[in-house]
Amino acid sequence: MIVMKFGGTSVEDAAAIDRSCQVVGERLSRRPFVVVSALGGATNNLLEAGTLAARGEVGKAMEIAERLEKRHAKLLSSTAEHFSRLHELLKALSAIGEFSTRTQDLIASYGEAMSSLIFADRMKRLGFDAVHVDARQCMITDDQFGKASPIMDVTTARLEQAARTHLNAGRVVVMGGYIGSTTSGITTTLGRGGSDYSAAIAGAALNAEEIQIWTDVDGMMTTDPRIVPNAWKVREISFDEASELAYFGAKVLHPLTVLPAVEKNIPVYILNSRRPSGTGTRITREARPCRNLIKSIAVKRGITVLTVSSSRMLMAHGFLKALFEVFDRHRTSVDMVATSEVSVSLTLDNVSSLHAIVEDLRQLGEVWITSEAALICLVGNNLKYTPGVARRAFSSLSDINILMVSHGASNINFSFIVDEKDATTTVQRLHADFFSEIDSEVFEPAV
Ligand code: ADP
Ligand code: ASP
Ligand code: MG
Repeated sequence: MIVMKFGGTSVEDAAAIDRSCQVVGERLSRRPFVVVSALGGATNNLLEAGTLAARGEVGKAMEIAERLEKRHAKLLSSTAEHFSRLHELLKALSAIGEFSTRTQDLIASYGEAMSSLIFADRMKRLGFDAVHVDARQCMITDDQFGKASPIMDVTTARLEQAARTHLNAGRVVVMGGYIGSTTSGITTTLGRGGSDYSAAIAGAALNAEEIQIWTDVDGMMTTDPRIVPNAWKVREISFDEASELAYFGAKVLHPLTVLPAVEKNIPVYILNSRRPSGTGTRITREARPCRNLIKSIAVKRGITVLTVSSSRMLMAHGFLKALFEVFDRHRTSVDMVATSEVSVSLTLDNVSSLHAIVEDLRQLGEVWITSEAALICLVGNNLKYTPGVARRAFSSLSDINILMVSHGASNINFSFIVDEKDATTTVQRLHADFFSEIDSEVFEPAV
């Protein structure tokens, strides 16, 4: 069997849903298990409605909910009844005045709960044998609301039970991505962009031959095509390279996606649901040799740089331990680190505990904060041992201020920090330089 995941843009309206259903219908012989995202934009709308309601702006929250209800009911009238429960929830939120991560997950879950019902219904109307399974009965997770992790043995057993007979009988199984529930039945989510992760978990649980991530671009590109419209498609990329790119901002893939797939050595493809005849990008275990120095450039905006400076660091030990304990205490991960004799700079993308972190860091030394930075990440094979990567990268950036650099920690990643306002120019110049000539074995033009 195979897993086919359709992202928000691949199910944004009736036309997109029909297109995606046909893509599934053309692959019946491969026994597809389908994972769908919420209708494009729905998750954002739901969370916005919840935030407004909790702030007491019920009217605005209801307007959003009603628009969502209409959008869904047009596709499947029976979804309307679920929305009356959502309206109740929003009212309750405004009374409580608080929007906990647990409630955020409950509200956000409507997106995938509804889109999966719609998709299964549409498959049937188009004449395919299809069945809907509720992700909250199968995807069993811990209770880290907002970023839950699957409990693999339970999830595997539940997915087997819910899907195997249907798949064997030639029925298409449709499940919502992103959402799950705890062992006691409380709704959870796997984190934003998490439907890719659901697909990989399902693929690993059901021993899929292949996991297909259907999206709105031709595959993994040499950079975000929104920044460089003529970016090239990468035909093949290694798991390591893809996860590095995903982590450092290539939104096309959720960073955790590849893990369950890597562990079971299941090939992952990124494909375009608007152009299903394309070959997409194949993610493989080994990187194939490439004549270009790098494969792709990722960019992550909204980065905060913290610099801690203290003369106590001078020839002392134990300082870094104390420093990292602060981040550990506040469960915040650090992306990049640079040190000098008396100071350390680190970057964060999750600033939910920034205030408390800075308070604690002030016990260790002086603290400077730079927000509105961007992390630029070049990914390629064997970068650490290839002469000239840094020279080449910086030669086109002589007028751009580089705030921090990281090289050598990984053999496939060269990254640095610039002001967020320079991010687009930086990526465009790097792309023009590194991909002025391309290895046609590895890259091909996007259509
Ligand atoms: P989906 O809704 O299908 O999950 P996403 O919006 O999460 O789609 O991801 C697809 C988007 O990722 C593309 O439209 C593109 O703008 C962006 N993207 C960023 N970096 C890359 C890259 N290197 N290759 C392809 N797409 C990228
Ligand atoms: N709908 C969820 C989100 O927007 C999950 C996903 O699309 O992957 O984050
Ligand atoms: Mg996505």
